[in-house]
Amino acid sequence: MTRCFIGLGSNLNDPAKQIRAALAALSAHADIALTHSSSLYRNPAIGPGEQPDYLNAVAEVTTALKPLALLHALQAIETHQGRIRTIHWGARTLDLDLLLFGDETLATAELIVPHPHMTARNFVLYPLFEIAPELVLPDGTSLRALLDCCPDIGLQRL
Ligand code: ADP
Ligand code: MG
Repeated sequence: MTRCFIGLGSNLNDPAKQIRAALAALSAHADIALTHSSSLYRNPAIGPGEQPDYLNAVAEVTTALKPLALLHALQAIETHQGRIRTIHWGARTLDLDLLLFGDETLATAELIVPHPHMTARNFVLYPLFEIAPELVLPDGTSLRALLDCCPDIGLQRL
């Protein structure tokens, strides 16, 4: 079993409901066990145009799936909850990012782990710290050190 972390985000169609439904779907998945989930965090949208605020959270899961199979399971949950892939970084009903897959480092066309933007996103680091304060990334960087470089400006824990 591998300990993994998933970033959840939504800014459309009742974001709190979308995130709760995604957590329920992770927990209901035959090959995924949901072990922890953070509070919800509200934060202003980045990306093109005017967008509603985001809600974000981070979940810890354990799974016997391989990394790509886990990504595909996450994408199936996104699709099931009505995500239509349009513009990059556009508004979305649900975004599930594979942040960490155990201690593995992967870079393929389809999957990059650790997630390439996680180290600079307060809406990932703060919820992650809430559920895994002891975490150390595969390159040896502690989550605590990343947090110290990433202010929580704009981020509101609900
Ligand atoms: P973003 O999350 O950056 O807004 P998308 O959710 O639309 O963008 O993802 C775009 C692509 O990113 C996906 O098709 C997927 O193959 C790729 N990808 C690469 N690494 C990851 C990862 N760690 N987690 C989720 N998707 C990833
Ligand atoms: Mg994504």
